[in-house]
Amino acid sequence: MSYTCYQCGKTYREDQLILECTCGGYLKAPERAIRKQDIITQDPTLWRYRKALPIGENDPVISLGEGLTPLVKTNFGGLFFKADSLMPTGSFKDRGAALVISHLKKLGIKKVINDSSGNSAAAYAAYCAAAGLECHIFTPASTSVGKLVQIQMYGAKVTKVAGARDQVTLAAKAEAEKQVGQAVYAGHNTHPLFPEGCKTVAYEIWEQLGWGVPDNIVVPFGGGSAMLGMYKGFRELVSVGEIPHMPRIFVIQAHSCNPLYSLFVGKEESAQCVPGLAEGISIAKPIKKVEAIAAVRQTGGTVEEVSEGEIIEALREASRAGFYVEPTTAATVAGALRLQKTGVIRSAEKTVVLLTGNGLKATDKIGQAMGLV
Ligand SMILES: *Cc1c(COP(=O)(O)O)cnc(C)c1O
Ligand SMILES: [Zn+2]
Repeated sequence: MSYTCYQCGKTYREDQLILECTCGGYLKAPERAIRKQDIITQDPTLWRYRKALPIGENDPVISLGEGLTPLVKTNFGGLFFKADSLMPTGSFKDRGAALVISHLKKLGIKKVINDSSGNSAAAYAAYCAAAGLECHIFTPASTSVGKLVQIQMYGAKVTKVAGARDQVTLAAKAEAEKQVGQAVYAGHNTHPLFPEGCKTVAYEIWEQLGWGVPDNIVVPFGGGSAMLGMYKGFRELVSVGEIPHMPRIFVIQAHSCNPLYSLFVGKEESAQCVPGLAEGISIAKPIKKVEAIAAVRQTGGTVEEVSEGEIIEALREASRAGFYVEPTTAATVAGALRLQKTGVIRSAEKTVVLLTGNGLKATDKIGQAMGLV
């Protein structure tokens, strides 16, 4: 099977080190199939869906036990919380990192470079540690202290970059260019295998609902791996007839950084990206926005934006219900609450909210926002 460039349609062999198309477009992995009987039920990790993952049957995988996180039916408006906040490094990014790092290890890469606001950096650092690879992370200067410590404890080198988020990406790419042959830039927002790992969350929800499909999914949107991974996973299940239809996918952004929302409502020129509580979804120019909007529309969902006040309120309410999540994740919860209030989603429906990150990651920021420290 091969990767296809989303922009120009050119194809590339999957087993090579190709990170983007010659036209500058990003690559997509092909759809694969999974059926109930393909699941390796004795494997309590996302590798139970290996049949649908682009890693050869006999290839070694780098695993820290990621995946198969709880799907919790809450008394929080009847919402289901998919607790990816309980992943090995504390965020859903482990799904993508496990795939990417396993692939790079197989190709004989020695050093991996990524740029991140924190969680994908922590995930890359952890999986590189497990794989015995060197890891160099470029982060925005504003990244939470908790994340910076975590990344370095895994043994990764950290370089803080001042300025806009795009500057961080440019710095990471420039470093990789200096070390061609030794290091690769494998940014999670563009690497074709990252969403492949993320799609397993859809399979898990299907399995955990007793081979069912929820009515609604609520996910955050930064670069789009979580959302497009979710979309792809459910699409693959629909393609082989394992589920009858797609869930509606609702995508949440923060008003402080709202490029996807602005595009969705036809006001692209009024998009902004200023510092806010939801650091994990603060990406001014998400390259997958066109694909994402088409996917949301196809499922009958919408894109919403939430205010800083709503994020704080949802953070408080989720914590009071026993779910200590990152502010970025609280934005998603806030979006789900708003969709319920406005009647777009009903409490009788099955609605799954993806909890992307653990509150312990951002205790410094949460403490400040709540006036506790
Ligand atoms: C990365 C991240 C997101 C955004 O995910 P994308 O795949 O970039 O859209 C949301 N929440 C948390 C906690 C994250 O770390
Ligand atoms: Zn191309």
